[in-house]
Amino acid sequence: MYPSFDWERCIGCLACVRVCRGGALSYSDREGVRRITFEPRLCDGDFLCAEICPVKAVKPGEKPLKSSATFELARCERCGKLTEFTLKEVEWAKKKGYYDVFLCKECRKAFSAEKILSEGSV
Ligand code: SF4
Repeated sequence: MYPSFDWERCIGCLACVRVCRGGALSYSDREGVRRITFEPRLCDGDFLCAEICPVKAVKPGEKPLKSSATFELARCERCGKLTEFTLKEVEWAKKKGYYDVFLCKECRKAFSAEKILSEGSV
């Protein structure tokens, strides 16, 4: 058995890439596009990828098929800088109610500092 990836369902979050011990899953971020690749000859079949996937995009498959998908990276809604999150991931997180406005790390820090300052001045 090999994992089979439903790339339509996948949000490009990299959780599976991070738990893959054999290196069968890899990714690159270039010019605002993330590519995730599955190389079955490096897969040890532990299915940690299926366990960790937040959207159940990994299922058992019979054939060892190499596959890959691309995802557009999201931009910070405040400064417009490219981030390390995909657009699909941000949309998914917003639907879940994890946040309303999507900000990069720097803007999150600046926003928190502004909030603390404004609360302190009241
Ligand atoms: S964990 Fe699931 S949603 Fe995240 S990149 Fe892997 S297959 Fe896609």
